[in-house]
Amino acid sequence: MNESDSHRMGEALARAGWEPTPAAEQADLVLVNTCAIREKAEDKLYSALGRYRLLKTQRGTKIGVAGCVAQQEKERLLRRAPFVDFVLGPDHLDKVPELVRKGGVETAFLETEQYLFPQADPESSRGNATAFVTAMKGCDNVCSFCVVPYTRGREVSRPYAEIVREVASLVAVGVREATLIGQNVNAYAGGCDFAELIRRVAAVPGLLRIRFTTSHPMDLSEALVRCFREVPQLMPHFHLPVQHGADTVLQRMRRKYTIAEYERRIAALPAEIALTSDIICGFPGETDDEHRQNLEFLRRTDYDNLFSFVYSPRPHTGAILKLEEWGEVPREIAIRRLEEVQSLQMARTLKRHRDRVGDTVEVLVEESGFGRSRENWTVHFSGDAQPGDLVNVRVESASLVALRGVQLGVTGSAPRVDPPRKRRLSVVPA
Ligand code: SAM
Ligand code: SF4
Repeated sequence: MNESDSHRMGEALARAGWEPTPAAEQADLVLVNTCAIREKAEDKLYSALGRYRLLKTQRGTKIGVAGCVAQQEKERLLRRAPFVDFVLGPDHLDKVPELVRKGGVETAFLETEQYLFPQADPESSRGNATAFVTAMKGCDNVCSFCVVPYTRGREVSRPYAEIVREVASLVAVGVREATLIGQNVNAYAGGCDFAELIRRVAAVPGLLRIRFTTSHPMDLSEALVRCFREVPQLMPHFHLPVQHGADTVLQRMRRKYTIAEYERRIAALPAEIALTSDIICGFPGETDDEHRQNLEFLRRTDYDNLFSFVYSPRPHTGAILKLEEWGEVPREIAIRRLEEVQSLQMARTLKRHRDRVGDTVEVLVEESGFGRSRENWTVHFSGDAQPGDLVNVRVESASLVALRGVQLGVTGSAPRVDPPRKRRLSVVPA
């Protein structure tokens, strides 16, 4: 989401005459797009601002802060870092050129009816095989660990016709894979449900692959499960975060499902789906027994990969208000538990990858010699395929993070795309 927002702001600035530079030291404007999901992200912001402050003194570089930390801190951010020129929240991506000119703080949430989703400029995706497409924003859940509802506001779905149009415009410049994004994307309701949205997007001619992220287990519908079986463009990868393997922790997290319910739902998925998840270790009050239940659940659930984190207290959230009552888990215990979760999963991911040595996998090429398998595994290969090509790769070795192999043949080549559109100018005598 953060990456996609950065693109939209880059495009708005390009329309106002700005161009990107690879090094902050050469920039006239440094825009830091922040994430507030864990505490470290804020620490990173303030240490980055410390570095950019020097640029401001040396060469007058303007400094802006965008994203969820901006939304959370608002004017406070200017008090803590008064050299910052402007602060803007995620609802105001299009306003960035205006804020560069006049400075200030723009963080008010817009009413649902007033909110217009920023349109991607397809030109900035020309030559890319993949693109993110925003399907919805915000979140109406109140998981007790999570700051998202406070930084991204209420759930708003983008009208499906806008999404389909954007996907078609991306395909016209060579994009072959669209990843539909939203904090709770399977709760989509922009004129049809999420399963119907996938079918409408799949009908865009020339689009080869569809992915989506992130989904809430309670919004997993039978219709979405059918899409995995019936829509060939939908890739067999599903990120469905469980967060914890003990019911008592799920209850404190306000996740609205039990482990038995989660297991029932994933049992309905086709067997070939690569299922991935998020896990939080050291959630307030997590006992040794709850941690043991978590490990037991993870042992019997054959996840393809896992993103695991140590719990980080977030402002405004339900869990921080109950921290004293539930009891903070000492950091060294939380880290030890995290390491146990990670080593369990690492061994399994490595085995899954090694089991594919000798197989042929279908890869969508993103850069020369690099692409992703249908399951979303990273694949490095030798061969001459171009970005946007779909190739078969014979796997020769595997590590925890990637497969390596040799290109066998191109099964689908990148569509021919028109050259970049030149700016047209008309000089009229007056
Ligand atoms: N909407 C998704 C869901 O409900 O599963 C999650 C989106 S959240 C942006 C991404 C992940 O960050 C979460 O799944 C969770 O594991 C992790 N996360 C969120 N808040 C956290 C916190 N306070 N401490 C540690 N990890 C956190
Ligand atoms: Fe956060 Fe996801 Fe829960 Fe929404 S559903 S509050 S984004 S963890």
